[in-house]
Amino acid sequence: FTIIQAKYLASAVRPDQYPAGDWQEISFIGRSNVGKSSLINSLCRHHGLARVSGTPGKTQTINFYVLTAKLADEKRLDFLLVDLPGYGYARTGQANRRQWSRFIEEYLLYSPRLRLICQLIDIRHHPMDSDIMVHQWLTENNLPVQIMATKADKLSRSQVKKQSTVIRDVFSQSNSNPIAYSSVQGTGRDELVDAIRKVLLK
Ligand code: GDP
Repeated sequence: FTIIQAKYLASAVRPDQYPAGDWQEISFIGRSNVGKSSLINSLCRHHGLARVSGTPGKTQTINFYVLTAKLADEKRLDFLLVDLPGYGYARTGQANRRQWSRFIEEYLLYSPRLRLICQLIDIRHHPMDSDIMVHQWLTENNLPVQIMATKADKLSRSQVKKQSTVIRDVFSQSNSNPIAYSSVQGTGRDELVDAIRKVLLK
């Protein structure tokens, strides 16, 4: 199972703008600046696919990409990667946050072929209230979650181990072992691809 192509498909803020078709979907969610765009680009090996930004909280649309994977038998499988807007950005007001939740909830509860939500947490920090709230909401709605601990290259090996345990314990509801990821070094990419393969070929 190898990802061989990634292409931007569409952006949406309302269900009638979601791309038509019966693709399986893998979504990515996390606080602004957690490294989501970098992780998506690194996963797809496509440098300019998702926008990496120094100003957090900018992407306010749901962005859809079509990924093509080559399977062991040389067949190909297309699926959607869905980049959800970042949450928890301090400078956006209450109204903005409500808007965010409504529109994300709409997507997450609607999407019939959503196979996995990768929730990104910065490995250096204890998960924040917003991370915990989002996680609780996902698991309460029986959505399958994979925790990704981002920016693993910023810590030593032993710190990565320690923080992974902290993150696993905070998010024990989802029974997901966090995958430590570095978009700079490519650490964790094989594990993530494998998690995606498992849910798509189930
Ligand atoms: P987003 O707002 O969640 O999409 O985050 P970005 O991908 O735009 O990244 C936010 C900042 O963190 C940028 O300055 C990135 O260069 C940096 N960053 C993201 N991922 C990594 C990583 O794995 N390692 C390191 N060292 N920096 C990262």
